Amino acid sequence: MTDTLTKFANEGIGKTITTKLGLPRPALLRRYKEGQDLLEGPAAVGGIGEGTVASSAAAIIKASGAEVVAATADSQYADKLAAVVFDASGARTLDELEGLRTTLGPAVKALGKNARVIVIGTPPDELADPEAAATQQALEGITRSLGKELRAGGTANLFWLSLEAQGDSAVLAAPLRFFLSSRSAYVSGQPIRIGEGEVPDVDDWHKPFLGETAVVTGAARGIGAEIAKVFARAGAKVIVVDIPAAGEALSKVANQLGATALQLDVTAPDAGEKIAAAVAKTGGGLDVIVHNAGITRDKLFVNTDEARWGSVINVNLQSQFRINKVLLDPSVEGGLKDGGRIIGVASIAGIGGNRGQVNYGASKAGVIGMVRSLSKELAARRITVNAVAPGFIETEMTAKIPVATREVGRRLNSLLQGGEPVDVGEAIAFFAEPGSAGVTGQVLRVCGQSQLGA
Ligand code: NAD
Repeated sequence: MTDTLTKFANEGIGKTITTKLGLPRPALLRRYKEGQDLLEGPAAVGGIGEGTVASSAAAIIKASGAEVVAATADSQYADKLAAVVFDASGARTLDELEGLRTTLGPAVKALGKNARVIVIGTPPDELADPEAAATQQALEGITRSLGKELRAGGTANLFWLSLEAQGDSAVLAAPLRFFLSSRSAYVSGQPIRIGEGEVPDVDDWHKPFLGETAVVTGAARGIGAEIAKVFARAGAKVIVVDIPAAGEALSKVANQLGATALQLDVTAPDAGEKIAAAVAKTGGGLDVIVHNAGITRDKLFVNTDEARWGSVINVNLQSQFRINKVLLDPSVEGGLKDGGRIIGVASIAGIGGNRGQVNYGASKAGVIGMVRSLSKELAARRITVNAVAPGFIETEMTAKIPVATREVGRRLNSLLQGGEPVDVGEAIAFFAEPGSAGVTGQVLRVCGQSQLGA
């Protein structure tokens, strides 16, 4: 569903016209295709300070088959770089940041199309020394600003790699591969925290969910259908859930994916039990639950009645509590296994707020609060709990927005375009991967680094 300007700006005469008129020139983003190589060119890896993560990152990239070159202040890059990974986790003084400028700068200059910049830091809240914390926090400003400077589909993201996890390259592999790959096409300017975790060996990075069962709610259309598609592609048995009124569309999705359709209103008091029963029928427990079903009932706050308030909070947030409660009961057959994954779909409206969406903003901010709290509660069971916060995604919902408002939402981000539903699916699948065991309590914006909701 590439929008008209993006198509126009990338074809023949359109390229010339958009350049001459100084119109925004959104790039055609590289997206994942089955079996695709991680990178289409070499990755430069370097760093400052006493960090030890660069060598782990280099080994992970080499294992993918990509070429790794050293990023130093004197490096001359023969080929356009597909990525640069910069380890600043060991930097403790502001003076050391000058080394980042002189080393990262030439590598950024040598980046090709759809390139990736990943900066690795230590969470500032783990450092007692104020200058060390300031040095690390500076990395966030650097990465977010770089995200806004990159062109041609480039993205820049930051890993806060917990001190306890810095000696363990296993927890780094899945996040590094996701953020380097085309699966993160619409994720930029985002920090994500990675901690300790028990990471199993990964046999096939293209099929991480082989033998696993995933449930996706609100999967009859839009983002939910695309999330289900990503899980099926990556090897999962999928159960797609949606309201009976969307039964026909749901069956179509299920048939297409070889998935099981479950007609169910997620607000039903026995929704959790019904989901568990459907899982039990597949002959095992549940590995992943994705709470995607969501509605909007927009009105200015002062005009919002009880029905508009209650339905949005109930579908978008309360249903997740009720369903989780059942699935987390160890005595329930078809419940979530230890080591399982819970992923909620929030929104940038739950981070920055939106006019006419006090109810929706409440529900989506609530999802973020739930994820942060529940992740701690479930750490002992190795269950991770995370959320994605989509920005402007090209769906039936956003197609209905009046054209002027739609263009603002679509263009006001670093990538100058809306995201595709699949971009949300890819980010959710990243959280769900067995390799993402060190990632919990996180909220990842899939918004092209939107200025809205900032
Ligand atoms: P959509 O309206 O196209 O799809 C939502 C699906 O959820 C529908 O199939 C609907 O039938 C189902 N659903 C609604 N209420 C349900 C219920 N009670 N029980 C079961 N299923 C129910 O919306 P979308 O754009 O695909 O959005 C998916 C999710 O992403 C939502 O949570 C939404 O809030 C969130 N989101 C979307 C965007 C965007 O730009 N489209 C941005 C931020 C967040």
